[in-house]
Order: sequence, then structure tokens, then C-alpha cells
Amino acid sequence: MIPLPRELRACRDCGKAVLITVTRLGRYLLVDPRPDDRGNQACYRAEPRTWHSRSLDAAGALPPAAWEHRYVPHVATCTPPARQEALPIPLPPNVTRLDPKRRRARRRPR
Ligand SMILES: [Zn+2]
Repeated sequence: MIPLPRELRACRDCGKAVLITVTRLGRYLLVDPRPDDRGNQACYRAEPRTWHSRSLDAAGALPPAAWEHRYVPHVATCTPPARQEALPIPLPPNVTRLDPKRRRARRRPR
């Protein structure tokens, strides 16, 4: 079973399409939008726009049923864009940096 495009959402971290499923514990689990035999989540559409998932790695978990397909949890494939370090901003000549002096003042013994 393949989710419909309207059932997908964009991941907040990487922006890729994900399917939001509900686990047996009632928690949300994001999975990649295409079935994948490497996946460890058995997912199926329980109601329109509502997908359920269960872990196949859990103790005593049954193999996927005929109505379930394997999906990969999105956390395994999510690749958020690398965050850029803050660049040292050149300060105007009439501005004094205070942070190095503050750091030095804290270390000074009393
Ligand atoms: Zn992501």
C-alpha cells in the first residue's frame, strides 16, 4: 500500500516527504513515504489519512500481515542540512568587543 500524496507531510528537519503514522502506543512515528523491504515498521492505512505502524523488531512481533507493508522510519534516513557556524562579524572600528574582556575578568582571582 502506497500513501497518497495528500497523506504526506514535509519533514521539519530535512523537508523531504514523510508519512506520519500512529504507533500502538499512540505516538507519532514518521516513516519514509515508500515501502521498503529493509524497513522494520509494518504500516497500513487504518482510516482515510490515518496510518498505523508497529515495530517488527519488538519481542514477539508477528511478521507483516497481508495488509501491511514494511516502511523505514524516517529518522534513519533524515539528513538535515548542515548548520553553518556563525561567521565572525567584522565590527566597525568604533565598536569594542566586550566578550573576550568579560571572559578574562571572570578568570581573575579575587
Ligand atoms: Zn527529515
